[in-house]
Amino acid sequence: MSKLENKVAIVTGASKGIGAAIAKHFAAEGAKVVVNYASSKAGAEQVVQAITDRGGTAIAVQGDVSKEADVIRLFAETKNAFGALDILVNNAGIYQYVPVEEVSAAFFHQHFNINVLGSILTIKEALKLFGANGGTIINISSVAGKVPMATGSVYSASKAALDAITISLSKEFSGRNIRINSLLPGSVETEGTHSAGVAGSDFEKVLIGNTPLGRIGQPVDIAKVAVFLASDDAAWITGEKISVSGGIYGL
Ligand code: NAP
Repeated sequence: MSKLENKVAIVTGASKGIGAAIAKHFAAEGAKVVVNYASSKAGAEQVVQAITDRGGTAIAVQGDVSKEADVIRLFAETKNAFGALDILVNNAGIYQYVPVEEVSAAFFHQHFNINVLGSILTIKEALKLFGANGGTIINISSVAGKVPMATGSVYSASKAALDAITISLSKEFSGRNIRINSLLPGSVETEGTHSAGVAGSDFEKVLIGNTPLGRIGQPVDIAKVAVFLASDDAAWITGEKISVSGGIYGL
């Protein structure tokens, strides 16, 4: 039997990058998947098409995770389509590296509204939709939360905050059969890192030099661990911060 048979999953920010890979791997393991996106409708529809072409089940649902009304609608559409929810992956996120002199209040709030508040809003709705068997939440955090780099103060703080939420809620959910874990990718090649100019840069060479396994990660590296964390194979794991980074260390 597939690892996620009969499960329903929401993956936020799944129109591209790590989220798209997680959505496809979940579907390949039998889950019905809600592919959330903010603005990339075509990207989300391509992910859904790739899933349905392989015999899987998925729908695309627009929704900005930092907006409460959008999040409520995302979960209402999930309920309409699939009736319940078993797995939530908080993957939607933004990352920009700037010197602190360039950090504005708007910059700070944008990072925290999407990376932190967005996850809280989705978790609140997930709790209403999880059934009697509980559920599983995976917060896609970052090694940047535990090994912050220069110019990443706000981004790193947002991911450290997300990890704190993971640990706090693992205790708050005691006795409810709801597992919650943080998955901390190292550097992963995605549309986002290409737009940020990381791919092919000197900075990428530094990242690879600090990675014992000697390469940049790929979305599939993260998706396979997300499948594990979402599955019953991880039934005894909650409140953990699991780095999936090729062993990247201090920068
Ligand atoms: P990406 O390629 O830039 O994709 C980001 C995804 O998030 C897109 O689907 C985007 O949707 C969505 N998104 C952004 N803002 C949103 C919002 N307000 N509401 C809903 N969806 C939103 O990013 P990625 O590199 O795959 O990163 C995904 C996650 O992994 C992030 O949380 C990031 O911090 C974390 N991470 C990435 C790396 C890395 O090296 N790539 C390393 C560590 C951690 P639209 O396209 O519709 O805007």
